[in-house]
Amino acid sequence: MAVAPPVTRAIPALPFASPEQLDPRLEELLAGASAQLSRWLASATSRPPLPQLALIPEVSPQATGLEPMRLLADLQLVMDGAYNPNHPGALAHLDPPPLLASIAADMVCAGLNNNLLAEELSPSLSRLERSLCTWLAEAVGLPDGSGGVPASGGSLSNLMALVTARVSRGLQHCSEAVVLASADAHVSLGKALMVMGLPPEALRRVAVDANGRLDVAALDEQLASCQQQGIPVLSVVATAGTTVRGAVDPLPQIAALCRRYGIWLHVDGAIGAVYALAGDHALRVEGLGLADSLTVNPQKLLGITKTSSLLLLAQPELLHRAFATGLPYMESSWGGGHGGECGLQGTRPAEILKLWLGLRQLGLSGIQAIVDGAIERRRTLARLLAPAAGLQLRQGCLHLLAMTPHAQSAVAADHWSLTTRQQLLEAQLMLSRPVYQGRHHLKAVLGNPHTSETQLERLASIVTASLGECS
Ligand SMILES: *Cc1c(COP(=O)(O)O)cnc(C)c1O
Repeated sequence: MAVAPPVTRAIPALPFASPEQLDPRLEELLAGASAQLSRWLASATSRPPLPQLALIPEVSPQATGLEPMRLLADLQLVMDGAYNPNHPGALAHLDPPPLLASIAADMVCAGLNNNLLAEELSPSLSRLERSLCTWLAEAVGLPDGSGGVPASGGSLSNLMALVTARVSRGLQHCSEAVVLASADAHVSLGKALMVMGLPPEALRRVAVDANGRLDVAALDEQLASCQQQGIPVLSVVATAGTTVRGAVDPLPQIAALCRRYGIWLHVDGAIGAVYALAGDHALRVEGLGLADSLTVNPQKLLGITKTSSLLLLAQPELLHRAFATGLPYMESSWGGGHGGECGLQGTRPAEILKLWLGLRQLGLSGIQAIVDGAIERRRTLARLLAPAAGLQLRQGCLHLLAMTPHAQSAVAADHWSLTTRQQLLEAQLMLSRPVYQGRHHLKAVLGNPHTSETQLERLASIVTASLGECS
């Protein structure tokens, strides 16, 4: 008897690129998305830096999958409501426009879909990552043999640094250990200690001087007092670029103290460490290379697309000591250890690709030009604001400038910052409104290469006029 032919059911082709030939669906989607993104970047000045709340498209998947045209249309709705870093008036935060090569590398990274967890999942990329970390560590002044690992943001780099410091000092089981950092150090340190199971008091704040730099004499006193009382110090954290005013702690003096007391020095260079790559500007962060560990965030000034952060160490082998668990389901490493054994993260994308390609596109002259421009804009703004009577400017030696009307009460400063920020937003200028030393400030981050003197003049005139209104 004849067997009935199998029922043929049309199997919908799943949206994965053909492994045998160019897949027209992929080409159509990438070309469409790329054109749409290019238009979005090219029309940045037609939208405010901070868009009004926009519609978001339907979120749940429908019974059947959608066509590229529909996907792109939905994507456009999200793009319309997105923060607009390519606008010349986007001056609020440490979120610059994206570098061209970084955008392309991010797309390729997604397409390669490699995993930095283990070498067999990312053979070339694991090697590229290790080599670039080594180059970067030495380029910012760490000694021969230094290196590190990328992390998804500076908060994670800081956490991994403190965990590594604790292991290297054998303080894993000590609940009395403390960390000393300046009053202006970043909030991620408190978060790190919390995750590490230490109480809030474990973060001891050291006073800053009038320029927002850690007071070395006060640090010396606190270290001596810890020593006398037998309190173990897990690490001193110095900041190269504080978040509100861009101050750089006196790194050489702090490093000398740490050496004298035998204490780990972590430098949080999330903002300032890239200055070490920019010719003479390296002097602004002198002493970076004296750190035991260093956080670097190329995402914050250089335009490497998010996230791009690295933890660099003078002795990178300590990472393995702090984080290795063994990876029983992987072939053993043929190089310096699997990525997943050298940090907190397991599966990790090849974020190194956009850093590498971005730095190669810029060249050292491009890095220097970014920093030159940022410093020049901060100086210009400071000069334009100097005649504004009653305005206190807070700046360090980097590209940040915060301000507050100093004769007013904290309540009045809060009101001033709100209304002035609103007036600035109406003029397509976005500043942030941090609370610093108990009062509201307006803060400008001058890292946006599109910002011109015209924007800075408008900014200064609005701020100057606002002071008149308040007094
Ligand atoms: C931004 C910042 C961080 C945290 O970096 P994320 O990438 O946002 O996690 C840490 N330290 C300083 C000084 C910073 O400015």
